[in-house]
Amino acid sequence: MDYGMIGKIEKAKRYAEERERFHFTSFSVDVEGENNQHTVTYDHGVWTCTCSFFASRGRCSHTIALEFILKGMLDEEVAEA
Ligand SMILES: [Zn+2]
Repeated sequence: MDYGMIGKIEKAKRYAEERERFHFTSFSVDVEGENNQHTVTYDHGVWTCTCSFFASRGRCSHTIALEFILKGMLDEEVAEA
Protein backbone atom coordinates (compact mmCIF):
# COMPACT_ATOMS: atom_id res chain seq x y z
CA MET A 1 0.00 0.00 0.00
CA ASP A 2 1.28 3.46 -0.82
CA TYR A 3 2.16 5.97 1.85
CA GLY A 4 -0.66 8.35 0.89
CA MET A 5 -3.30 5.67 1.45
CA ILE A 6 -1.84 4.66 4.82
CA GLY A 7 -2.26 8.26 5.96
CA LYS A 8 -5.87 8.31 4.74
CA ILE A 9 -6.70 5.10 6.63
CA GLU A 10 -5.27 6.55 9.84
CA LYS A 11 -7.40 9.66 9.34
CA ALA A 12 -10.46 7.51 8.65
CA LYS A 13 -9.98 5.63 11.93
CA ARG A 14 -9.94 8.95 13.78
CA TYR A 15 -13.03 10.21 11.95
CA ALA A 16 -14.89 6.96 12.66
CA GLU A 17 -14.48 7.56 16.40
CA GLU A 18 -15.82 11.11 16.11
CA ARG A 19 -19.47 10.31 15.40
CA GLU A 20 -20.57 13.93 15.58
CA ARG A 21 -18.81 14.49 12.23
CA PHE A 22 -21.41 12.35 10.49
CA HIS A 23 -24.91 13.54 9.61
CA PHE A 24 -27.14 11.00 7.93
CA THR A 25 -29.71 12.66 5.67
CA SER A 26 -31.48 9.70 4.06
CA PHE A 27 -31.14 5.95 3.86
CA SER A 28 -33.06 2.68 3.58
CA VAL A 29 -32.39 -0.39 5.75
CA ASP A 30 -33.86 -3.88 5.70
CA VAL A 31 -34.31 -5.04 9.30
CA GLU A 32 -34.75 -8.72 10.13
CA GLY A 33 -37.46 -8.81 12.78
CA GLU A 34 -38.43 -11.85 14.81
CA ASN A 35 -41.08 -12.84 12.29
CA ASN A 36 -40.59 -10.83 9.12
CA GLN A 37 -38.19 -8.51 7.41
CA HIS A 38 -39.18 -4.84 7.40
CA THR A 39 -37.83 -1.92 5.45
CA VAL A 40 -37.07 1.27 7.36
CA THR A 41 -36.40 4.53 5.57
CA TYR A 42 -35.17 7.85 6.93
CA ASP A 43 -35.40 11.07 4.96
CA HIS A 44 -34.41 14.37 6.58
CA GLY A 45 -35.86 13.50 9.97
CA VAL A 46 -38.88 11.55 8.74
CA TRP A 47 -38.99 7.80 9.53
CA THR A 48 -41.09 5.17 7.83
CA CYS A 49 -41.30 1.41 8.40
CA THR A 50 -43.30 -1.23 6.57
CA CYS A 51 -44.44 -2.99 9.78
CA SER A 52 -48.03 -2.77 11.02
CA PHE A 53 -47.06 -1.32 14.42
CA PHE A 54 -45.43 1.67 12.73
CA ALA A 55 -48.54 2.19 10.59
CA SER A 56 -50.66 2.74 13.72
CA ARG A 57 -48.11 4.37 16.06
CA GLY A 58 -45.59 6.21 13.86
CA ARG A 59 -42.64 4.62 15.70
CA CYS A 60 -41.66 0.98 16.19
CA SER A 61 -38.91 -1.32 17.48
CA HIS A 62 -37.17 -1.15 14.08
CA THR A 63 -36.95 2.65 13.88
CA ILE A 64 -36.09 2.95 17.59
CA ALA A 65 -33.29 0.37 17.19
CA LEU A 66 -31.83 2.48 14.39
CA GLU A 67 -32.13 5.59 16.55
CA PHE A 68 -29.94 3.78 19.13
CA ILE A 69 -27.42 2.66 16.49
CA LEU A 70 -27.15 6.11 14.92
CA LYS A 71 -27.29 8.14 18.14
CA GLY A 72 -25.68 11.53 17.57
CA MET A 73 -25.60 11.11 13.79
CA LEU A 74 -29.20 12.04 12.93
CA ASP A 75 -30.74 15.46 12.51
CA GLU A 76 -32.18 15.58 16.04
CA GLU A 77 -33.95 18.93 15.63
CA VAL A 78 -35.96 17.69 12.65
CA ALA A 79 -36.52 14.26 14.23
CA GLU A 80 -38.15 15.80 17.32
CA ALA A 81 -40.37 18.20 15.36
ZN1 LIG B 1 -41.20 -1.36 12.17
